[in-house]
Amino acid sequence: MLAKLLQAVTCLMLLGQAAHAFEPATEKVTDNVYAIVGEIDQRSAENQGLNNTTGFIITNDGVVLVGSGATVGSAKMLEAAVKSVTDKPIKQVLNIGVQDHHWMGNSHFLAQKIPVSALAKTMEGQKAQESMNRMRLSSGIGGKPEDLTVEYPSETFDGDEKTLTIGGVEMSLRYLGDAHFPGDAVLWLPKEKVVFTGDIVFNDRMLGILPEISKVKDWQATFNKVAELKPEHVIPGHGNPSDWATAQKDTGDYLDWLVTEVGKSLDEMEDLGDAVKRLSADETFNFLHMHEELNGRNIHQSYLQLETE
Ligand SMILES: [Zn+2]
Repeated sequence: MLAKLLQAVTCLMLLGQAAHAFEPATEKVTDNVYAIVGEIDQRSAENQGLNNTTGFIITNDGVVLVGSGATVGSAKMLEAAVKSVTDKPIKQVLNIGVQDHHWMGNSHFLAQKIPVSALAKTMEGQKAQESMNRMRLSSGIGGKPEDLTVEYPSETFDGDEKTLTIGGVEMSLRYLGDAHFPGDAVLWLPKEKVVFTGDIVFNDRMLGILPEISKVKDWQATFNKVAELKPEHVIPGHGNPSDWATAQKDTGDYLDWLVTEVGKSLDEMEDLGDAVKRLSADETFNFLHMHEELNGRNIHQSYLQLETE
């Protein structure tokens, strides 16, 4: 009996350690803006679904956190990242993304009476994709989809653009078109020339064209709209913060390549299987992490989408 109890206690301690094993990196981008860089790999129990990048803005009135992580566990990692650079409290959370790790930690902040705001369009996307997000997340981190505590933003704004001035910092939520998920938005800081792009930009790792969800041509068009803002600093949805040239190289050029190369393949009436095989052998984007598992799937999806145009 005692041995069993001890075993259970040890097991719980190990679980506790595992939950705290991952710590995201906090990187200064400008004087008052920081990126929080999550794991570059897949979701796991250790990273609690925080395999994405987010960040925060320090204002005169407190901190604006962009994104809330995937779970209460990853929300706490973001909170700790904020505390590592400032004593100011989190005053406001903004949701710009529809995929799990951009908003499914909302409940942790709402429980502290911290408002969570988003464009209404983003919240519509969150609602539409919630069950899929729950499944994908729980299969990555363990547990049951129905056990996740999921809460929507407490405040939404109609239309494609909402400018907020918080603690003297002007910031603008903008929907520029669908990308990785329908309803994904950006946060633009015109004075600092910083853009939080959410999953519109993947740096350092290959993006994923998800069946039924991501439309490669829409994503390409939306990416080009973000470029029109002429950002000097990019805080992407995945990977490290960068300049725009890096975002162009790691995301924009790859989207262009998919649309162009798969388009040519269709013009030449190449068979789907042949196209995937031939284009997967192209090494242009092999510098991106996770290309082995994603490139073939992305070519396959792009083919199916462009074929029906
Ligand atoms: Zn993502």
